[in-house]
Amino acid sequence: MTRTGPDGADEPALDALTQHWLRQIAALGFLPHKAHARVVLGEQLRLLVAAARAEPFDPAPARQVGAALVAARVAAPGVLGVSLPLLAERLPGLVGGDEPAVRSRIQPLLGRMADGFTAALRDTAMLAAEELNRSERVAWRDEQRRLQGELNQALLHDVVTDLPNRVSLREHLGAVITTARPDARMSVCLLRVDDFADLNDALGHATGDDLLRTIGVRLREVVADLRGASDRYLLAHLGGEQFVVVVSGTTGVDEGIKLSRLAQHAIGNASLPWVDGYQLRLRTTAGIVEDRVAGTTADDWLRNAHIALAWTDADRRPYAVFDPTRAAEDLRRHRLAVAMPAALERGEFQPHFQPLYALADRSLIGVEALARWRRRGTTATLGPQNFITLAEQTGLIRPLGMSQLRQACQRGSGWHAAGHPLLISVNVSALQLSEPGLVATIDDILDQSGLPASALQLEITESTAVDGPDDTLSDLTDRGIQLAIDDFGTGHANLAALSRLPVTTVKLARELVADLSDTDNAAASAVVHRTIQLCHDLNVTVTAEGIETRTQFDTLRALGCDHGQGFLLAPPTSARDITQLLKAIRTSRP
Ligand code: C2E
Ligand code: MG
Ligand code: MG
Repeated sequence: MTRTGPDGADEPALDALTQHWLRQIAALGFLPHKAHARVVLGEQLRLLVAAARAEPFDPAPARQVGAALVAARVAAPGVLGVSLPLLAERLPGLVGGDEPAVRSRIQPLLGRMADGFTAALRDTAMLAAEELNRSERVAWRDEQRRLQGELNQALLHDVVTDLPNRVSLREHLGAVITTARPDARMSVCLLRVDDFADLNDALGHATGDDLLRTIGVRLREVVADLRGASDRYLLAHLGGEQFVVVVSGTTGVDEGIKLSRLAQHAIGNASLPWVDGYQLRLRTTAGIVEDRVAGTTADDWLRNAHIALAWTDADRRPYAVFDPTRAAEDLRRHRLAVAMPAALERGEFQPHFQPLYALADRSLIGVEALARWRRRGTTATLGPQNFITLAEQTGLIRPLGMSQLRQACQRGSGWHAAGHPLLISVNVSALQLSEPGLVATIDDILDQSGLPASALQLEITESTAVDGPDDTLSDLTDRGIQLAIDDFGTGHANLAALSRLPVTTVKLARELVADLSDTDNAAASAVVHRTIQLCHDLNVTVTAEGIETRTQFDTLRALGCDHGQGFLLAPPTSARDITQLLKAIRTSRP
């Protein structure tokens, strides 16, 4: 007995074909849900049978069959390959009716089914590809974010201490500056761990890094204690031995100083490794800037903090506070130092001469050569307080001093030739004195200028005289050159050394002479008196410097001082003025 379904299909035959079809597909080895696939296949068979029987015939619905197979995940390579021949063979039997007519309908149906199948497969593949694409894009974006995060961490933090680094410090300063109220103030404390570079080299960089990490931790604690609930502080690590704490909203420098002290204390007491039986102790110095925020840049703050830090070395103090006046002066000196070598070559350094007088009769006995710098392109003439120390620091004092000596000797020789046998007194710095070949150079200069050695006096300071090379000094005096101790009484006055050194003159410092202004100053005049007596006992002449008043002059003369110079008598002046002065003396002579 043949059972037929509601649409007229032969149910057992349909079931049998469904089972067979399912087995064929399952044989391809991928069906995930067999039961589900069986239902789908049965339904599709029914649809195909209905389409094959429909009047008028329309193959289009068979497209849906292909799509349904794909949707039911019975879509795999080979599914069409097994399905199409199977259905071509067995479907006509199921449809029934006029055999050739049915067969002519089966081919278009299977053709549409194949179209539907491949189209659906392509859509699914595209969807899958798109899905893949999307998830790849998400993964890529996540990776980018992660890398960016790592990069930011590396860019903005120090690798050793993990503290914000120079880049983030500048960003922080920039942010404080741009968001600050007009009257807001801030402090930047630059901390330097002294001798770190040496320790790092001596102990190895791994230990050095450990030290920095420990310091970072201690500084974090200091800042955390101060910070409390406020976010006014930023601790950064500039790399190496330099750390920075920024405090916004300060009202003066006190907070910066307190913070630097706390930091110094914390680092000084950090428990550090033992090396060779000694526990390491670190010292820290701090450069502090405190100022209004408006109109500044991050660079200003860092540069000024570095300038202040450099002052701690010069001042030998644990911290220094930035001072714009001092910085401007530093800058001026730096510019001068840079300009000096070329200026020396161009002959811009020329001596002025200050007359030296015998106090007894006010006769002119000599001149002291005092260097002056006539800067090209300016009308200014700079005095030695502007450049001698600089020249000593840069070493330029050697050629500069020699040039002054040469010019002074040439002038002196000219005055001698004109009948004025002046003593030519020239200042010599300690650096020059320690230069090998100094004596030979002086011989040369005397030779070339024609000035007799006995007319040359070299002025050296007390400390140079005491610490300097004795041989050089006696080599000079052996030639008849005179030797004066300059500014006597301001240094470590070593009267005993006077007897040992081949000194011919002592120049009493202006400070001693100044004390003689007051006629009642008995102590001052006693000191000067004793000094003069002692010098005379040692056969040393005494010249008083800086005589400015009549009282000083009179007192010195009464105390037996031999010679003197000072504004009261004559200020330093050009060589040409001295020549004029000499002419005047000649014409006034009887
Ligand atoms: P110094 O050798 O003690 O020179 C005396 C200084 O006192 C000069 O200052 C002079 O102008 C100043 N002076 C003279 N009379 C008076 C006075 O009555 N009152 C006051 N208040 N000052 C007076 P200047 O020319 O500025 O020289 C300063 C110092 O620079 C010199 O002190 C000397 O140590 C150094 N110096 C000058 N030229 C040279 C040089 O060619 N080589 C070296 N190494 N040092 C030099
Ligand atoms: Mg002098
Ligand atoms: Mg002097």
